[in-house]
Amino acid sequence: MTPDQQAATGTMWKPDVVPYVTSYTGEHDRPAALVATKNGLRFAGEVPGDRDSRGVLWIRQDQKRGAGRPDFGGINSARQRRCMSRFLCQVCAGPPSVTTEGMLFLLLDKPEPDWEDWPERMGTVHPPLCARCAGQAIRMCSALKRGFTAVRVRRPVVAGVDGKVYGPPAGGAEFVQRIVQYDEPDVLRWTIAEQLVAILLGCTVITDLENDLRGASLLAAPTRD
Ligand SMILES: [Zn+2]
Repeated sequence: MTPDQQAATGTMWKPDVVPYVTSYTGEHDRPAALVATKNGLRFAGEVPGDRDSRGVLWIRQDQKRGAGRPDFGGINSARQRRCMSRFLCQVCAGPPSVTTEGMLFLLLDKPEPDWEDWPERMGTVHPPLCARCAGQAIRMCSALKRGFTAVRVRRPVVAGVDGKVYGPPAGGAEFVQRIVQYDEPDVLRWTIAEQLVAILLGCTVITDLENDLRGASLLAAPTRD
């Protein structure tokens, strides 16, 4: 895969740093047989570790970070989930950058003209970044070079998952890929989660990121929901 192809996938490609959340070619999905019940979906031979503390079913994947080559188009679900649930930097898994304006997120999404206070209330699967990794990313990441929005978020809230929805909510399709919020229990019980989704509340768009990073404390403690 060329850097341009990698950039097209939207991941933060960097030539000499492999983000913590990036999957490796030696990490394979381990599909489980699905069983539809009156209470929703379960795996055949399901074990307690297949669900999170909310009872959401998660995709089964190998956990072999460093095995094979980095797959810059892929995300390891367990590592993404760890970063987003604890609000850790997606590149180094350390504390993210936090200032009085909040926690740093870099968004590849384009601002939406009809959404006056964009990205307020937007959902993202991309965990925050620390100041050091953000500085490296904007210098080295092809996807970010094509345009990004830096935003500080006072109250990021983990509010659901991105995954595959099966069963009745899929409306006749084998599955539908979508974000499912925790307040949709009738959809959630038919979902196999792949990434945690945080809703961004209390957003301040940062127009001069380099200046912002100069003022940010590298050692700021993460805030928690
Ligand atoms: Zn970092």
